[in-house]
Amino acid sequence: MTSVGFVGLGNMGGPMAANLVAGGFDVKVFDLVPDLVAAVDGASGADSAAAAASEVDVFISMLPAGQHVRGLYLGAGDAPGILDQMNEDTLIIDCSTIDAASARAVAEGAKEIGLSMLDAPVSGGTAGAENGTLTFIVGGEESALERARPVLEKMGANIFHAGGAGAGQVAKICNNMLLAVLMTGTAEALALGVDNGLDPAVLSEIMKVSSGGNWALNVYNPYPGVMEGAPASRDYQGGFLVDLMRKDLGLALQTAQASGNSTPMGSLAANLYQVHRDVNDSGGLDFSSIQKLFKPDV
Ligand code: NAD
Repeated sequence: MTSVGFVGLGNMGGPMAANLVAGGFDVKVFDLVPDLVAAVDGASGADSAAAAASEVDVFISMLPAGQHVRGLYLGAGDAPGILDQMNEDTLIIDCSTIDAASARAVAEGAKEIGLSMLDAPVSGGTAGAENGTLTFIVGGEESALERARPVLEKMGANIFHAGGAGAGQVAKICNNMLLAVLMTGTAEALALGVDNGLDPAVLSEIMKVSSGGNWALNVYNPYPGVMEGAPASRDYQGGFLVDLMRKDLGLALQTAQASGNSTPMGSLAANLYQVHRDVNDSGGLDFSSIQKLFKPDV
């Protein structure tokens, strides 16, 4: 049986690890929060990240940000990283959304000691993690991805190979920057229509099949009451949080600065989300709540 070590059992990692258990893998888990370790039924709890990573075929991390991923693998201050303690045939998959430079630095460190590593950030949110329908956007060597595929397939419905090390992270932030632009533009257009006498549902139907049609209108309408099941129709609870969108926009802008790209739309979206967070105290709301910036009374 394939054995999998899993570190980082938060909103995403917890259900992903549970799907690996349900998929028949022998799973060893660790998180800094002991209750999260105990919550993964059917997995064995490890007492450190290094213990979760030892003697496993595949090791997966799902952590908040680049500093946590670098610290875990390469070490931070006096704390050693786990890379040096891993078997050389263990395949490493980092599913966190982090800056591409950190992803490449860890992949390079792994390669130096003969380990293969993939960056495999996900799209699909907590519902995708729970239902095993995530999209994995993978950077790294094709041969490593083929080894990872049976494991990723238990947690996701789509797997894309974006390119070499770090490419998964770049593709992910390009997508999320575009998503922020589309959501912000959609909210702005809906507010304009409503303030000029239109029904948001009627306007949405018109734009959906016209040249302004986009993903937000199709499946994630930001105006309350237009789309049953969308976060907008449950007070913007759940879904993909404003703070996580702000994080991804920050990564996009950081990447753009490093490569010398101008991203005026992404910069504006990042600023609008920042203002929205500050003015509406909305960090914990779904990102479609940007509608409130254009229509405070929704
Ligand atoms: P989370 O904060 O809920 O979980 C992160 C977990 O990592 C926490 O339980 C924390 O205790 C643990 N952790 C941190 N450092 C650790 C360490 N050194 N060792 C062991 N455990 C450690 O975050 P999340 O929502 O699960 O997101 C995880 C990653 O997935 C982030 O990079 C996020 O951007 C990305 N992501 C999240 C979503 C979403 O909708 N939540 C969607 C797509 C991608």
